[in-house]
Amino acid sequence: MLELKHIQKAFGDKHVLKDVSLTVKKGQVVVILGPSGSGKTTLLRTINFLDGADSGEIVLDQDHYDVTRIAKRDVLAIRKRTAFVFQRYNLFQNKTALENVIEGLVTARKVPKVEAITRGKAALAKVGLADRVDFYPSQLSGGQQQRVGIARAIVIKPDVILFDEPTSALDPELIDDVLDVMRDLVDDEMTMVVVTHEMSFARDVASQVVFMAEGNVVEKGTPAQIFEHPQEARTKQFLARIL
Ligand code: ATP
Repeated sequence: MLELKHIQKAFGDKHVLKDVSLTVKKGQVVVILGPSGSGKTTLLRTINFLDGADSGEIVLDQDHYDVTRIAKRDVLAIRKRTAFVFQRYNLFQNKTALENVIEGLVTARKVPKVEAITRGKAALAKVGLADRVDFYPSQLSGGQQQRVGIARAIVIKPDVILFDEPTSALDPELIDDVLDVMRDLVDDEMTMVVVTHEMSFARDVASQVVFMAEGNVVEKGTPAQIFEHPQEARTKQFLARIL
C-alpha cells in the first residue's frame, strides 16, 4: 500500500501542491485527472523523490517517511520500490532497448549482468518487443520507445509504477499499443498510479479516479462516481470540456 499524507510542495512562491492526501491499495489502479498545471506531474514526482516535497508523509506498506527528514538511503529504498514511466520516455539514445532496460539493474542495484540480461529480455518480451532488444531508440516508433520505458519499470519488480501521461507524446495510432500493455499490467494486478487524459482507459480500469485542480484533490471516487455523478462544480466543468 502507498499512502500520501498532507503533501505540500512549492516552487519559489508558487504553491503547486497545497495539501494532497491519497491512498493506493495493493493492486489498485489510481488515475489522476486534472487541468494543465494542477500539479499532477509534480505529485507523481514527489512520490519517488524526483522532486522532494516540502512537507508531508509518504507511507509504503509499514514504512513511514517524513519527507522533510528523509535519509538518502530511504530515498534509494523508495526508488527501488517505485518505478516511473515518463511522458517522453527518457531513454538513453546511445543504448539499445535491452541496455536501457537493464541499466538501472546493473548500476544502481548491482544485479549480475547475466541475470539482468535474462530479466531485461523477459521484460521486453512482456511488452511485445522480444524482437527489438538490440534496436536503438532512434530505430523504434514512439509507442515502442514507451514500451521500452514500461519494460524498464517492470524489470525492477516494483511495488508501484507511476505513469506520467505515458501516451500524450504519441501519435494517435500508437496510443493503443501502449494502453494495451498497461491493461496487461492491470490484469497482473500491478499497483499503478496513472496521470492520463485517456478517459476510456480511466473508465475501464481505474479502481479510483482522483480529480485535481490548483494543487488540491477536488474529488475522488470510482469511475462511475466521477464520470457519471461528479459532485463538485470544478469537476463538472473539466469533464464537460473533455468528454
Ligand atoms: P500538465 O497536465 O500540463 O502536465 P500538471 O497538472 O502535471 O500539468 P505540473 O507539471 O505538476 O502540472 O505543474 C504544476 C505547476 O508547477 C505548473 O504551474 C508548473 O509551471 C509548475 N512547475 C512544475 N515544475 C516546476 C519547476 N521545476 N520549477 C518551477 N515551476 C514548476
